[in-house]
Amino acid sequence: MTIRDIRMFGDPVLTTRSDEITEFDDALRALVDDMLETMDHAGGVGLAANQIGLTRRIFVYDCSHTEDGLRGHIINPVWEAIGEQTQTGQEGCLSIPDISMDTERFETVRVSGRDVDGHPVAMVASGLMSRCIQHETDHLDGVLFLKRLSPELRKEAMATIRTSDWFNS
Ligand code: ZN
Repeated sequence: MTIRDIRMFGDPVLTTRSDEITEFDDALRALVDDMLETMDHAGGVGLAANQIGLTRRIFVYDCSHTEDGLRGHIINPVWEAIGEQTQTGQEGCLSIPDISMDTERFETVRVSGRDVDGHPVAMVASGLMSRCIQHETDHLDGVLFLKRLSPELRKEAMATIRTSDWFNS
């Protein structure tokens, strides 16, 4: 397993839509392992492939510290909201260090996709896991969570980013 470099805000790969995965092979299995290790190393709860520079539709997640206890990966994810209820809570991103902002998301979603063997997978998720699914699938569509912020918070986040060492180095 290898820890991969995480791409930072400003890298065009983060605003690129990723492609569907069609080959379920050993290379994909190795990618899942690398992504889990990279996420763990960075202390994240989710990581999308384009965050390590690969425009492929896969993300890994780890909500095992919450009551749902889930950890794994989803390939070619598609989600839909269940109900209209939303949640607002602090959200951050490994590609945008030191920014944590109140972000509105659907409370409950149903996600479906494939596992590393190509088998269909689906689950209904609420709370943090639901937030993670929405955040990571956004990544695969080339969308960063900054876009989901209120205009005031987005302005505040951008101001912080512009003065951040990681952005200016
Ligand atoms: Zn992110």
